[in-house]
Amino acid sequence: MSVFSHPEFDGHEHVAFYHDRKSGLKAIIAIHNTNLGPALGGCRMWPYATDEEALRDVLRLSKGMTYKSAVANIKLGGGKAVILGNHRTEKTRDLLLAMGDFVESLGGRYITAEDSGTSVADMKVIGERTRFAGGVVEGSEHGGDPSPTTAYGTYVGLKAAAKFRLGVDSLKGIRVAVQGVGNVGYRLAKHLHDDGAELVVSDIFSENTERAVRELGARVVEGDAIFDQDVDIFAPCALGAIINDNTIDRLKACVVAGAANNQLAEERHGELLRAREILYAPDYVINAGGIVDVYYQRTGESADKLKAHVEGIGDTLTEIFTRAAENQQPTGLVANKIAEERFNRA
Ligand code: NAD
Repeated sequence: MSVFSHPEFDGHEHVAFYHDRKSGLKAIIAIHNTNLGPALGGCRMWPYATDEEALRDVLRLSKGMTYKSAVANIKLGGGKAVILGNHRTEKTRDLLLAMGDFVESLGGRYITAEDSGTSVADMKVIGERTRFAGGVVEGSEHGGDPSPTTAYGTYVGLKAAAKFRLGVDSLKGIRVAVQGVGNVGYRLAKHLHDDGAELVVSDIFSENTERAVRELGARVVEGDAIFDQDVDIFAPCALGAIINDNTIDRLKACVVAGAANNQLAEERHGELLRAREILYAPDYVINAGGIVDVYYQRTGESADKLKAHVEGIGDTLTEIFTRAAENQQPTGLVANKIAEERFNRA
């Protein structure tokens, strides 16, 4: 297994491997860039088939966090942690405490938070051993879960995309297909419903779609029929890689704007969307509300300031859409350039 010559190695500042014999913890923390501030990124727990797979994931995801924080205009760098193991069967209190020791050993260059396979409760345990665990707010309504803010930022971004592509100020009567009505997708759908949008939704869990029918008057479609809907906007809020060779020609929407991470299966799919005149709101720009929330949890600034910051996602997207149209480039490429201008300048 190579590190410095790994295809996903991108001049990362620090890659640390940790093994705790007592708890069995095996974890990697990757710090991509700290030019703008300490590296913040979630701690994922996943049963990787190989160490190589875990390294690839942590290198790729930590780089993504540098770009996300830079575009979101917060003073954070990019990092990520992965714990190698099954979060359902192998997560123990001792393992999480050992993870806290690992995070603490980096002296604040990396701040952790919840991610796939870890929860607010896990961050509390990790936080018993380190000052650098985010996403925990005692006594708050959501206990530090950033999903409501992610949903709000995605809603603001979706409105900016609708204005740019469809020329509308209001979502009343706009048809939106939401794939995945979980923590973020349901809350996004609620904002859209409150604005008078018409919703069609899908989810693999019927209790989630039933709630959307009951509370939001949504129509439900099964499985991947969500890609074929005659809608104005497609909002992916479930899985990654859903914009791919099999789905792109099926989309009838002229906007793709949703919260899911890594929506494009490959970078070239951004160019294919552009060729089909489908406006794509780059995923890491539109779903940055969560990281902004975790940042404000640490700075302790007011909820009003947080809301105003998250509303800036709309302006950032409009700038990206404008530059992309002027230069006839995919929006994802333009977003990357803006991020690089910011963190390289710093
Ligand atoms: P979640 O698990 O609460 O919701 C995802 C939903 O998608 C679930 O209801 C799940 O049943 C459903 N789903 C899974 N496979 C599906 C499929 N094939 N078709 C339709 N539905 C399917 O997760 P979440 O926190 O709401 O996150 C949603 C997406 O947003 C993820 O890609 C996540 O990485 C991204 N994201 C979340 C946050 C956050 O703050 N939670 C921040 C940034 C990005």
